Amino acid sequence: MKIFAANWKLHKNPAETRAFLTEFKEKVKPKSNERIVFFPSSPCLEAAAQTLTGSNIHWGSQNSATELKGAFTGETSAQVVKDLGGQYVLVGHSERRTLFGEKDETLAKKFQLVQSLGLIPMLCIGETLNERDANKTLKVIESQLKQGLALAEPSKPFVIAYEPVWAIGTGRVATPEQVKEAHEAVFENLRAMEFSSATPILYGGSVKPDNAKDLLKIPHVDGFLVGGASLEVPTFKQICEA
Ligand code: PEP
Repeated sequence: MKIFAANWKLHKNPAETRAFLTEFKEKVKPKSNERIVFFPSSPCLEAAAQTLTGSNIHWGSQNSATELKGAFTGETSAQVVKDLGGQYVLVGHSERRTLFGEKDETLAKKFQLVQSLGLIPMLCIGETLNERDANKTLKVIESQLKQGLALAEPSKPFVIAYEPVWAIGTGRVATPEQVKEAHEAVFENLRAMEFSSATPILYGGSVKPDNAKDLLKIPHVDGFLVGGASLEVPTFKQICEA
């Protein structure tokens, strides 16, 4: 199974969401061994839900709260994502970690809550440039997996997205050797923690139509989490067809 996920961040309004997804679902038919997932911003989730009903294209939210309801101004409830028909939630995207101060302990709780609702968490991990330069990449991967998955239920599905922070939105893609080493490390850590060896491991960080094919050939690369190149139908279509 290959997964192609689109992280739209704070781009597109509901009308643009509908227009994009209407065109996309006409032009792209996922094969049985492929899954395509869109992550629009929270005010656009209902537009995505309505547009994708009856298609086999999936969607989810970019974040969810540690609680399902209550006094949490500005948060998104995973329960509402589920009620609207979503299947996925991104947990711990590097922008959540760096810009909003989300810590591994909080992410573990979010992950657990998402799984408990029957939704699929997509846990994002990855080292900063300083950490890579200090030769700490494998340590960061191990630590973020151990802490982020501390409350995970092994029998329920989840996805890992390895996204080196220095490659996100920078146009600077990790080399095949760097991706190979990191994905192997994720795979081995998951195995050591006794999670399913079939857990998909996505790569994210400046994936474009011209590098997607080669990246997909690397062992343990089971698809992509794509930011910038997912905002236009032709480029994301090409990546999904890589
Ligand atoms: C992302 O936001 O997860 C991402 C990988 O962005 P980009 O593809 O733009 O680097």
